[in-house]
Amino acid sequence: VNMAKHFPIKTGIFQRTTGQIKAVDGISLYVKKGETLGIVGESGCGKSTAGRTFIRLYEPTEGKVLFKGRDISRLSESELSRTVRKNIQMIFQDPYASMNPRKTLKSILNEPLITHKLYDRKGRDEKIAELLNRVGFNPSFINRYPHEFSGGQRQRIGIARALALNPELIIADEAVSALDVSIQAQIINLMEDLQDEFGLTYIFISHDLSVVRHISDRVAVMYLGKVMEFARKKDLYEDPLHPYTTALLSAVPVPRKRGIQQRERIVLKGDVPSPANPPSGCVFHTRCPAAMDICRKVTPDFQEVKKEHYVACHLYQ
Ligand code: SF4
Ligand code: MG
Repeated sequence: VNMAKHFPIKTGIFQRTTGQIKAVDGISLYVKKGETLGIVGESGCGKSTAGRTFIRLYEPTEGKVLFKGRDISRLSESELSRTVRKNIQMIFQDPYASMNPRKTLKSILNEPLITHKLYDRKGRDEKIAELLNRVGFNPSFINRYPHEFSGGQRQRIGIARALALNPELIIADEAVSALDVSIQAQIINLMEDLQDEFGLTYIFISHDLSVVRHISDRVAVMYLGKVMEFARKKDLYEDPLHPYTTALLSAVPVPRKRGIQQRERIVLKGDVPSPANPPSGCVFHTRCPAAMDICRKVTPDFQEVKKEHYVACHLYQ
């Protein structure tokens, strides 16, 4: 709720703070239990920072983060690990980076179980066998090392590791972006099966509109640290309201009732401005084909303009 994460810009030999990067600048989103919220946007729009702030890898600069009605944004680290850490897990683009190359698959999966003091040795062995089976691994792989696996297999390990603590919410940040398209589909299908089986809630962060469309129930479009549009998937993809969403969608073929239909391509002028110095008014005004006078001066409110369909744009206020 109104969540912001600003990072100080430090310059000079004394590292004085000379400005703020407004990586996330006042966003309000929600996801219901068992649903998938997709967050899309170009690189640098703040979607990864948002994901990390949701799970308190960062403390938000402003606003609240409600998890099952409870504000977790100011909890101390010890309270966090006692209450929410186990319930919220994250999957990253490159699971290999977070795996100790000298540890076997077995000890990688053992780690979270030992940290959280779950099960005895026999119980852990059973849990690991169950996890491996669930993500489609042969149990004989258990003594292999991360480098012996392909990218897709490593992502399965990342998923198994996230599942080890029986979380309720999983945040996936570009989790399939580095994989070939056919492997992407396998991982997404696996994630959807696991969601149904365990009633998991997902926040799926990606720059890829097609992937997000496939997996999400609701979708938020971010630009320069703000949410431009947030709606149920069908509404967002079939009836986008915000000029930025319209432009993004014009670049991807959209499946329609009568086959694939390519919308008229809208090419945005210019580059994304720096989040250290975002434009006044609507942050999108420097590139918006529909910009008006007011857009340069006044920041549009993020408003619900149709049922569960939120937009930040003066065209709808
Ligand atoms: Fe474009 Fe103005 Fe809407 Fe911003 S507020 S998206 S500049 S029309
Ligand atoms: Mg789903």
